[in-house]
Amino acid sequence: MSETKQSNVLILLGPPGAGKGTQARMLEDRFGFVQLSTGDLLREAVAAGTAAGRKARPVMEAGDLVSDEIVLEVLNERLAEPDVARGVILDGFPRTLGQAEALDTLLADRNQRISAAISLVVEDDAMVERISGRYTCAVCGEGYHDTFKKPENEGVCDKCGGTEFKRRADDNAETVRARLVAYHEETAPLIAFYRDRGVLREVDAMGAIDEIAADLDRIVEQASA
Ligand code: AMP
Repeated sequence: MSETKQSNVLILLGPPGAGKGTQARMLEDRFGFVQLSTGDLLREAVAAGTAAGRKARPVMEAGDLVSDEIVLEVLNERLAEPDVARGVILDGFPRTLGQAEALDTLLADRNQRISAAISLVVEDDAMVERISGRYTCAVCGEGYHDTFKKPENEGVCDKCGGTEFKRRADDNAETVRARLVAYHEETAPLIAFYRDRGVLREVDAMGAIDEIAADLDRIVEQASA
């Protein structure tokens, strides 16, 4: 049986700290899409101690890219779950040209295509500050920042009321610099790749979170019209 309604496949591109996770979660709330973060999937695999997680852990700690094989394995498992039918926001994937080609094949097999690849354009220098101040609710994963996005009531998650928060092990200055290098070497070429395909949209992501979110809303509404 063929699926007639095209579900949305959005890609968020941008260096670490550009706000991909924050914006993906906001799009999830507003449009009912599912955020698929390969970083989150890999961190779950590391925490669960799976074979993929054991291989990924030292690579992630160094700020390097995990092999395409492992990333595709965790992504494929997640895509097999039923909640992705309405649409997905890919956050942190693809990150190499090899992954972008693998994604094309995977979507072609499912009779789907990319609605938009949105590049969050930021200045590298600001990213270390953005990343070193960020933390998330340990219960629901809502993202916060020491300077840019504090919970309304200190120590209490706005979204779920949780009172435990955590910071990522790889959000330290040294690893962040390695992650920025990996981004420029491996991932930035995807901007031209998606521009050539006519699906690239660029958004200035240095401003306020809500203004960036409003720009993304417009893009998503157009792309899914
Ligand atoms: P992120 O949460 O997107 O910042 O990813 C955290 C780390 O997970 C990265 O620094 C990489 O080591 C690894 N990772 C996440 N997504 C990918 C991917 N698509 N390809 C390779 N490595 C990835």
